[in-house]
Amino acid sequence: MVIIESQNLFFSIPSIKWSSSRLERFLECNLKDYYTYIHPVRLATNADLTLGKFVHSMIEKFWNDKELPKYKTVDTFKNAMKAKWNFMVSQGTSRGQPLKWRTKQEPWIYRNKMLGLTEIIYKRCSEIGQPKYAEYPFDFVLGGVRFIGSIDELRNPRTVIDHKNYGEYFDPKAPEFQEKLDKKLQLTVYSLAVAVNAYLDQKFASSLEIEVNRKLSWEENLESISSKLDIFMHLVRTGEHIPTQRRTINQYKDLFDLVKKIDEQRARNIFTPNRGNHCYNCNAFEQCTYDTEHGLLPVQKEDGQLSLLESIQIYPEPVSLIKPRNKKEKKKTRQRRLKF
Ligand code: SF4
Repeated sequence: MVIIESQNLFFSIPSIKWSSSRLERFLECNLKDYYTYIHPVRLATNADLTLGKFVHSMIEKFWNDKELPKYKTVDTFKNAMKAKWNFMVSQGTSRGQPLKWRTKQEPWIYRNKMLGLTEIIYKRCSEIGQPKYAEYPFDFVLGGVRFIGSIDELRNPRTVIDHKNYGEYFDPKAPEFQEKLDKKLQLTVYSLAVAVNAYLDQKFASSLEIEVNRKLSWEENLESISSKLDIFMHLVRTGEHIPTQRRTINQYKDLFDLVKKIDEQRARNIFTPNRGNHCYNCNAFEQCTYDTEHGLLPVQKEDGQLSLLESIQIYPEPVSLIKPRNKKEKKKTRQRRLKF
């Protein structure tokens, strides 16, 4: 646990960092969290995940320093991506994680899938232009919970965009999918992160045309900022931007309740496997299936110590923990940071 000090009072920073993907992974199968964080095994990235990461980087790195597309035509974009994919396969890693292919042909089947997206990505990115922020990082503590992550795109005015490489099964017009998007935890965390960062950093707020009223409390500001944030899911295979519901304070409260519940369960080592079709795509499939006799599986604890309760005191306001990358940025930053 890290301690922060403010006006001679001490507050703790929770040692556990919750990202939306960690929360969603935990809800899909608790045991995955165990294999990722508690008893980590070096998990290889499967083909779907590799393609997803690659597509994110294709969009993020589409523009040059002059805010223009780096590639003059679709074909140059396609050839550059093909070369990049070939290099990644030859290296056997993606962002430091080993790649795992089920068959010899799989890297090339997935390369074709990726190349099939180049035209639509090129068109979308060329038309819409560079976002204000791409892969915007956040790391903040609120109500004794630490959230980390990065947001795919932030655009003007007040717009959050998340890229999703969903397949044909996802029909944006189907009510059940719309409902899922409206309740999607990841988008709730992103909305909260933008509201918190806008409240803490006036420059960031202005850059996205977000109004912060200093006469209001931070809670009121979070509510008012969130009520004006537009949140879209960018369906990569079609280039569509699917609107989703704006997040409310009640959704944030539910999020905090959920994190607390999960944290209690995690502290007691209660990791229940949830076996199903998703296991086929689980990176811990082998460990989970075969490693039952080597002490890797968790043993439940009666009195697990809760990270949320081990705090000395919970800091009453949001705090950003993003560290400036260099001295220049340090000078420029106006985010509220505490000595720790
Ligand atoms: S293989 Fe299935 S049950 Fe095992 S950790 Fe993965 S998702 Fe959970």
